[in-house]
Amino acid sequence: MEKSLKAAKELFTGYLCGHNLRRTAERYAVLEEVYACGGHVEAETLFQELNKRYRVSRATVYNTLELLLECGVILRHRLETGPAQYERACHVQSHGHLVCTVCGKVEEFTDNRLNDLAADAGEAFRFAVEHRNLYLYGKCKRCQLKSAPTGKKSV
Ligand SMILES: [Zn+2]
Ligand SMILES: [Zn+2]
Repeated sequence: MEKSLKAAKELFTGYLCGHNLRRTAERYAVLEEVYACGGHVEAETLFQELNKRYRVSRATVYNTLELLLECGVILRHRLETGPAQYERACHVQSHGHLVCTVCGKVEEFTDNRLNDLAADAGEAFRFAVEHRNLYLYGKCKRCQLKSAPTGKKSV
């Protein structure tokens, strides 16, 4: 098993036990699915995927996502466009997001300066940084090309 998933499962097990919640196969399946997809995923997509293999309801998927968020093994992105997206939180390299406000596409980029920036800001404000996220909103390459011939001025 991948190190990050193993760590996440241990955290989740501790969380479920600590809250007297049942450790069901479906709950672990939701966690595994988020980790398996590697990038960002929407709740609906998770449900569709899991539904192929388990008798799982939408409510279970959504409720489990809330539990996973609460115990900190996944992150939720509420972007300005489209539904919320989820991604794994354990042993993930800090990355930034380029969000296209036209088509909703999200691209990730990594840059070590993100870590330095977080460390500096944390130190300056004596703030214990837990997650780092950077969102840059704009138009992706394809959408720029699409809008170019019309001669519209970009805002
Ligand atoms: Zn786009
Ligand atoms: Zn991401």
